Amino acid sequence: MSPLCAADVPLYRDTNQPVEARVNDLLGRMTIEEKIAMCHANTYFTSSGVPRLGVPDLVMSDGPHGVHEERLVHGWASAGRTDDFTTDLPAGTGLAATWNTALALRYGEVLGAEARARGKDIILGPGVNIARTPLFGRNFEFFGEDPHLVSRITVPYIRGVQAQGVAACVKHFAVNNQEIGAREGIDAVVDRRALHEIYLPAFKAAVREADVLSVMGAYNKVNGEQACESDTLLNKILKKQWGFTGLVVSDWGGAHSTMGCALGGLDLEMSGRPKRDYDAMYLGRPFREAVGRGRVPESVLDDKVRRILRVMMRIGSLDTNGSRPCGAMNTPAHQAVARQVAEEGIVLLKNEGNLLPLDVEKLTRVAVIGGNATRKHSPAGGGLPGGGSSAVKPLYEITPLDGLLARLGSRGVTITHTAGYSADAAGAAGVSKLVGESGETSIAGEPGENAAIGARGAAVLRERAVAAAREADAVIFVGGFDHSVETEMKDRVDMSLPYGQVELIRALIAANPRTVVILIGGSAMEMDAWVRDARAVLFAPYGGSEGGTALARILAGDVNPSGKLPITLARRLEDYPPHATGDRAMYPGEGHKIQYREGIFVGYRYFDAKNIEPLFCFGHGLSYTQFEYSDLRVELASGDGVSRTVSFRVTNTGKREGAEVAQVYVSQKNPKITRPVRELRGFEKVFLKPGESRTVTCALNADAFSYYDTERDAWRVSAGDYVVEAGASSRDLRLRTGVSVR
Ligand code: BGC
Repeated sequence: MSPLCAADVPLYRDTNQPVEARVNDLLGRMTIEEKIAMCHANTYFTSSGVPRLGVPDLVMSDGPHGVHEERLVHGWASAGRTDDFTTDLPAGTGLAATWNTALALRYGEVLGAEARARGKDIILGPGVNIARTPLFGRNFEFFGEDPHLVSRITVPYIRGVQAQGVAACVKHFAVNNQEIGAREGIDAVVDRRALHEIYLPAFKAAVREADVLSVMGAYNKVNGEQACESDTLLNKILKKQWGFTGLVVSDWGGAHSTMGCALGGLDLEMSGRPKRDYDAMYLGRPFREAVGRGRVPESVLDDKVRRILRVMMRIGSLDTNGSRPCGAMNTPAHQAVARQVAEEGIVLLKNEGNLLPLDVEKLTRVAVIGGNATRKHSPAGGGLPGGGSSAVKPLYEITPLDGLLARLGSRGVTITHTAGYSADAAGAAGVSKLVGESGETSIAGEPGENAAIGARGAAVLRERAVAAAREADAVIFVGGFDHSVETEMKDRVDMSLPYGQVELIRALIAANPRTVVILIGGSAMEMDAWVRDARAVLFAPYGGSEGGTALARILAGDVNPSGKLPITLARRLEDYPPHATGDRAMYPGEGHKIQYREGIFVGYRYFDAKNIEPLFCFGHGLSYTQFEYSDLRVELASGDGVSRTVSFRVTNTGKREGAEVAQVYVSQKNPKITRPVRELRGFEKVFLKPGESRTVTCALNADAFSYYDTERDAWRVSAGDYVVEAGASSRDLRLRTGVSVR
């Protein structure tokens, strides 16, 4: 066969042509059947291309903190392959806790490169749902409670992914803040102000700033409309107001009707239970019939296909000229990013008398205690133990004990490990509470008998740990949650630490005051019963492949902690707005509705408004060094007469190199409308040597002084007097000045 000459190459294949021209050319060559086939799944994680025209299938994969292992073509189960081990990046809470936007870009690049190497077109992340309640089983996948922080992490993450020839998929659009009832389409009833100020900003930033190529509709309803079929959310807000040109994919099984999907703005229907008759899906045969009968204009179908083709063109999936990046997996560079994110995401909550860092030279015996010291959170094989759809099959996962052995073992320190509790035993009071609703426990055998054995067993485990603690120079307790507690498909029932950890922690602290308490997890946990007595406490989000190395390096002082909380850690569950009054309509919902009655008062906005003292506030995180803030200036930026430039100096006044996340909050004085006491509007992470000082500059654009005006259905600058504050957390604000906005 003679090679094709230029004139034979169809326009849609010509990468020198504009994307829109290529899309239109290709669309014009497709039959109705081919177009319909593109709008729904043809396996669990792909949708159809057009073989006749050389258009490949579109290949998707979870996300969001690593590329999921390969699944069966027609099922959720593992394909049992050996070539799909991947880098496990720290989960969302960990990335958010770094407050490092440059690092979020590198995180996205790693994810994108690994997805590309595995032949994926769309990676199903980032997940950007707001932590409205600490009980939400999926909080660990997401970026915390504040829309500004979530947005700032989301944008570079997406840019990083998409620079690798892979589409990011920002999810779950929208107001998907609990597992209970969400999959059955529970209706999130939220006022428009909270919708736009709290729940939508990260999606908007993803579209407007990062040019995200795909968006996943949520399982739940929003104000009466199924999210995957919502004219308001998908057509009016996402596509029209924000100008989104990419594709909207349903969550797996999130579509509920042909006309709803067809007219409600969904472009691609995926399902968790297609039973192999993919053509019977809502956007399959029934859609074909609706178009044939004129119930849905063909232009609607064309728009969907155009969006899908546009994404394919943009990521280069039709290009054969070798320009599409081919990615890489498990490189040392990827592992280094995973480690840096894990290190920067660890939050030092408390460090009385500088118990940390450990004085490695002087240590002789360290007792490492706790189930999470040895637990891998992403067990090979994926599935629920790894937290649900986000589980990855890592090439390796360094546990905290591995990390400590590697770091301290070689220095001649004797390390002992004892679990202190059993995550599987009936002594696990938290576990029986967890599954308490159905009256079952997760323990095999006769419940009564096991409970008795468990209680005895738990006491033995605890005593063993306490004995080890007494003999040690330092005790490292590593507990917290795991993915049998925190996972997709369920919410927790309370904030307590499971497995009888509270009793154990108290006993350890009493036995040895040099006890460091490390809590692994992705959400808020109760600490009130013992935290005052503990000298050092760390919150360590699920750290992925390099989590244990990161932790050991922090404890040993090789790395100075610099993570800050992306969530408020309250004393008790009732301090969080959805749980404050015990109103079941607010959580978990009543009559198939969840009332978001707290409106915009989510997270610290609520604690500040109600004057509730949290245990550790939003933005909190200590360092082994100290920082001073000075010279706050706020100047009018050129342009709209509203935007300001904030600058101030941060100085490392201690003896160690370290990084500080300097935060800027804005509040309006005597506002005419209800406004939060203060809102995060800017931040920067600065790395400083001892004695070094740097000027931090943050741009406050009109958004920083705006609220969502529901009467006009638009953002509006609220003229008046404002206070701009800068500091180390939402409650440790060191500098302040007034600004008048007219
Ligand atoms: C989850 C999504 C996920 C999808 C595919 C759904 O159950 O909600 O986050 O991307 O499954 O695994």
